[in-house]
Amino acid sequence: ATGAPLLEVRKLEAWYGESHILHGVDIDVHPGEVVTLLGRNGAGKTTTLRAIMGLVGRRSGSIRFEGRETINMRSDLIGRAGVGYCPEERGIFASLNVTENLMLPPVVKPGGLDLDTIYKLFPNLKERASSQGTKLSGGEQQMLAIARILRTGANLLLLDEPTEGLAPVIVQQIGAMIREIKARGFTVLLVEQNFRFAQTVADRHYVMEHGRVVDMVRNDELNASLGRLHEYLGV
Ligand code: ATP
Repeated sequence: ATGAPLLEVRKLEAWYGESHILHGVDIDVHPGEVVTLLGRNGAGKTTTLRAIMGLVGRRSGSIRFEGRETINMRSDLIGRAGVGYCPEERGIFASLNVTENLMLPPVVKPGGLDLDTIYKLFPNLKERASSQGTKLSGGEQQMLAIARILRTGANLLLLDEPTEGLAPVIVQQIGAMIREIKARGFTVLLVEQNFRFAQTVADRHYVMEHGRVVDMVRNDELNASLGRLHEYLGV
């Protein structure tokens, strides 16, 4: 891709207390791209998303979003700049119904989708509009967690393992949702363990190992790189 990246991560280091977790992560995500972070358990994928969102206490290096340095910015301000984060546990409010969950996060900038558009694009959610959070399946919760970000106007979505624990047919629905989001011009950086799924949604993949990015593969080169990836991922 040409032009300025939407997200530019350079020499990112991060610590949890005394534990040095990230050792210099470099990542670019261009506007409209879907990019995955692949890697074994403990490689630092979740920590990378959390550091971009400003949720890791101690971090150094550079994180530029829309050209603006955010490495020392507070998490809520990073959110207001247009970065949306969906953690692995999804964060759906159990006592609120689907519509209420969708309407809860504040709109941070123009360009988000209104409720009607969200329900038009994702009829599964519309059917469940008045169902309480607790009554939703894992897949419905995941869709809701993603859709909720689309309303806020966030233009970069950070998704942590959206397919985790979901049945194959639901994984396909999440894949369709991510492709729809991309078609609407949103940009996505997602953590994935499911290599086959990643292949159906992404433009490029970064491979992480021991707190570093060790490889980058374009999706159209993925099959030719399977041997190499096998070594990293053990798939
Ligand atoms: P997973 O898929 O298992 O989440 P990951 O690649 O996302 O893997 P991280 O969750 O980023 O990896 O974890 C990277 C390292 O940081 C691991 O060694 C983990 O034990 C450690 N770690 C994660 N969270 C904390 C924390 N809150 N305090 C201390 N260490 C942590």
